[in-house]
Amino acid sequence: MASPFARRFTVEGGKSVSLAKIDPRDESAFESKEKAKAEIAKDAEAINQLQDCLYAEGRRSLLVVLQGMDCSGKDGTVRAVFNTCGPIGVEVTPFKVPSAEERAHDFLWRVHKAAPPKGIIGIFNRSHYEDVLVVKVKKLAKPEDIERRYEEINNFEKLLSDHGTRILKFMLHISKDEQAERLRERVTDPKKFWKFNPSDLEDRKLWPHFMDAYETALKRCSPAHAPWHVIPADRNWVRNAAIARIVRETLEDMAPKYPKPDGWDPKKVVIE
Ligand code: ADP
Repeated sequence: MASPFARRFTVEGGKSVSLAKIDPRDESAFESKEKAKAEIAKDAEAINQLQDCLYAEGRRSLLVVLQGMDCSGKDGTVRAVFNTCGPIGVEVTPFKVPSAEERAHDFLWRVHKAAPPKGIIGIFNRSHYEDVLVVKVKKLAKPEDIERRYEEINNFEKLLSDHGTRILKFMLHISKDEQAERLRERVTDPKKFWKFNPSDLEDRKLWPHFMDAYETALKRCSPAHAPWHVIPADRNWVRNAAIARIVRETLEDMAPKYPKPDGWDPKKVVIE
């Protein structure tokens, strides 16, 4: 189960979490920025090797859920932690405002379809948690429907876990000040204009409500088989180093094995 390193960030299911008490600038998990950056590169390479083995083994999968306010660095995390893996064996799924077709189904329909099959690392950039976060804050569904979803999510994640999917969930915890900095960059740097969406400012106004909704989801949906980790995310290197290490340790714990030859003896094969 969770390593001592991962436990620093892990939410214990059923226990209240106060995000205000977790410093988004906390660097104390690491000795220095230089060392942490060197570790990210090593961890990413190890993840690449382990992913190759997981793919070859073809029996289990890993699901990495990334959630966070706008500008919290979900894309940057994918780039830093999983780029070495290349496109084989890793699937990234962004979850946007549901389409008409998606809305015509239950909220987990689109999510279940995107769950990683055996051998694959699946990364959710946003996830089914939007249905108890933005949907709750902006009152996009009936309160009683939202209330039911926590248990529905727990049952869904248990189903995935029972069928061989290891689940890691990361809340990228940035401060409101850091978000302001990053939003300012998006409206001043022409290379970042495309990342700006005026509706992000609406969500920013609802910050305390989002934090409340996160706290509830963290508390109610963090069983041992699908734990949430709150990752200080004001510093990109802290965020990347923490997530890379937890992913690497999780894959090491899964210990995938290359399959043995099935019905043939490598010593007896003659290739002319
Ligand atoms: P991102 O911010 O993830 O880079 P977008 O700018 O396209 O990408 O934002 C996606 C938007 O979709 C977010 O504002 C998010 O809250 C919203 N969203 C995702 N899932 C849902 C959902 N189930 N219901 C309503 N809105 C959702």
